[in-house]
Amino acid sequence: MTEDRLKKLRNCRKCNRLFSAAEGVSLCSRCNDEVDDEFTKVREYIYDNKSASVKDVSHNTGVETDIILKWIREGKIVLGDHSSISFCERCDAPSDGNRFCPKCVHELSVGLKSGLTEKAQPQRPKGGMHIKEKK
Ligand SMILES: [Zn+2]
Ligand SMILES: [Zn+2]
Repeated sequence: MTEDRLKKLRNCRKCNRLFSAAEGVSLCSRCNDEVDDEFTKVREYIYDNKSASVKDVSHNTGVETDIILKWIREGKIVLGDHSSISFCERCDAPSDGNRFCPKCVHELSVGLKSGLTEKAQPQRPKGGMHIKEKK
């Protein structure tokens, strides 16, 4: 019985019940069924409401945004072209159809400003740091 050897006793990540599971399984069968229901709900909601934001989906399905985003990242839920669910190009956080999430937009604008003031100062070559170029 090699199957038994692969299975380990562990606590369900959701209900904390002890159960035996194969490698990589973190939910007991009971919670897994629940997740399947949630997953179907989310997938159908997104399918019917292609331009819904993650918050809309979460609000209407009762599933946490983190879980929804995880499914999308894993490719379990495929978004349509007109979806307003997207991820920040910088930090991969949900960005509601924008290139960057609000946090990065803020950080980028602050960084841009400080970057500009830094660049405004003339760049002087530092003494003693010369490296002779070999030709
Ligand atoms: Zn469970
Ligand atoms: Zn970001």
